[in-house]
Amino acid sequence: MPKWIIFTGGVLSGLGKGIASASVGMLLSSKYRVVPVKCDGYLNVDPGTMNPVEHGEVFVLEDGGEVDMDFGHYERFIGVNCKSEWNLTMGKVFDRIRKKERRGDYLGKTVQYVPHVTNLIKEWWFEIAKKENAEVMLIEIGGTTGDIENELFLEAARQLKNEVGEKNIMYTHLTYVPVPFGVNEQKSKPTQQSINLLRQRGITPDLIIGRCSEILTDNIKEKIAVFCNVKKEAVITGLDVDNIYKIPLVFEKENISKIISKKLRLKVKPKLKKWKELVENTINTEKNVNIAICGKYTGLEDSCASIVEALKHSGAHLKYEVNIFFIETSKLSSMKKLEDMDGVIIPGGFGERGTNGKIEVIKYCRETNKPLLGICYGLQMAVVEFSRNVCELKNANSTEIDKKTENPVIDILPEQKEITEKGGTMRLGSYPAILKKNTKTHELYKNINVSERHRHRFEVNPIFHRVIENNGFIISGMSPNKKLAEFIEFKYHRYFIGCQGHPELKSSLLKPAPLFYGLVKAAIQ
Ligand code: GLN
Repeated sequence: MPKWIIFTGGVLSGLGKGIASASVGMLLSSKYRVVPVKCDGYLNVDPGTMNPVEHGEVFVLEDGGEVDMDFGHYERFIGVNCKSEWNLTMGKVFDRIRKKERRGDYLGKTVQYVPHVTNLIKEWWFEIAKKENAEVMLIEIGGTTGDIENELFLEAARQLKNEVGEKNIMYTHLTYVPVPFGVNEQKSKPTQQSINLLRQRGITPDLIIGRCSEILTDNIKEKIAVFCNVKKEAVITGLDVDNIYKIPLVFEKENISKIISKKLRLKVKPKLKKWKELVENTINTEKNVNIAICGKYTGLEDSCASIVEALKHSGAHLKYEVNIFFIETSKLSSMKKLEDMDGVIIPGGFGERGTNGKIEVIKYCRETNKPLLGICYGLQMAVVEFSRNVCELKNANSTEIDKKTENPVIDILPEQKEITEKGGTMRLGSYPAILKKNTKTHELYKNINVSERHRHRFEVNPIFHRVIENNGFIISGMSPNKKLAEFIEFKYHRYFIGCQGHPELKSSLLKPAPLFYGLVKAAIQ
């Protein structure tokens, strides 16, 4: 029987509930098998079809699930490979309900939110717990308490206590403690109101995390304790930090392990030595390196969240602070901005907008020997640039941009040709590749057999493999059937690598992704 930690949030969104719950998971994970589950109230089946500007990055799992970016935090902090069923969306929940109803499973009953939908949600949680042999189930309920779309998840979470027993469940609430300008005092009212909303739903929190620009004073903790019916020790600070990896350290300083251990009868003993060392590496350094991320959507950092993290991980290992600059390629008129950059990333992308700028950036990096990492669309654009400007393949292009190009160097994958539905139909998830010996790619991975996670419909057209190789590109990694170019590099360059997968998705503070490590290292040099 696992222990259950329910994570809710209040007052406003964007307080870092995902990072807070991932941090709790991280602290527990040195001793217990923690399974994180995220419940989202929206009606999309998954975020795969959502605009990343609106929703943030789509995180891809090993099994090909397209999920919320909070799963990125879970994987990086807890060190688990999450599964697509661990993301419950209302879209998926209603899909199941409708299927059951059509099958006649409800035997003539009126299908209702309570108990039918709430039962289905709980059963889903229990199913995961059983299948994964979970010791701790960490259930994060998305959104803010009081939002209509999360009511059913909250109701299921309330009911859970009766089923698993008081000793086995802990409700945690993340809230906001402002220090208004001019008042200069920590204020508890938003927390009181948010907890009131939670209590109206029958849930009293066992732990309150107050997000604040300062450490919470004794005074405010006491006030929150009195008004919200919790013990004073169970009110802790969720401090504003400049580096998210500090959060487990902050929580630990506030004695979170003790609070959880006591409530759930566990013996939480986090291992933080290496973690702390790596976090400190990037704080106590005067050494800096500048990396540009050049693409569209770059106005919003969230759409490249995992790339940003992967850069930080490599920086921590190399004892450098990585300064990250976002450059919108649809508005790029000259390469001036790139002169001060030590390295460049062209991230994944879709559609035509901004591609000319990306191609110009790639040309500039290729010609000036500036380190470049092209990820997915970035690899594809590097092949387009090289084909046009070096291989002299006139108007070479991707058929994603120009269907009728005379030199379709990037073309749709054969198995994608007949697909018409948009959701969940790309080449998704982890795929293996075999690397070529004595290439930079191989040197960095230190392995011949590697795998990365994918999310694409197009590939380097095999008809053109020979010509780009004859002109100086190396296809440094191929799919096991030798058909698909998974990695490329440019022979006459100190660091020019493209990867069809997304290596940022598997990077973590303790184990940075090799291609990012290589890029940052080359940029430093
Ligand atoms: N649009 C390209 C494709 O579908 C690249 C996708 C990506 O960068 N994730 O192949």
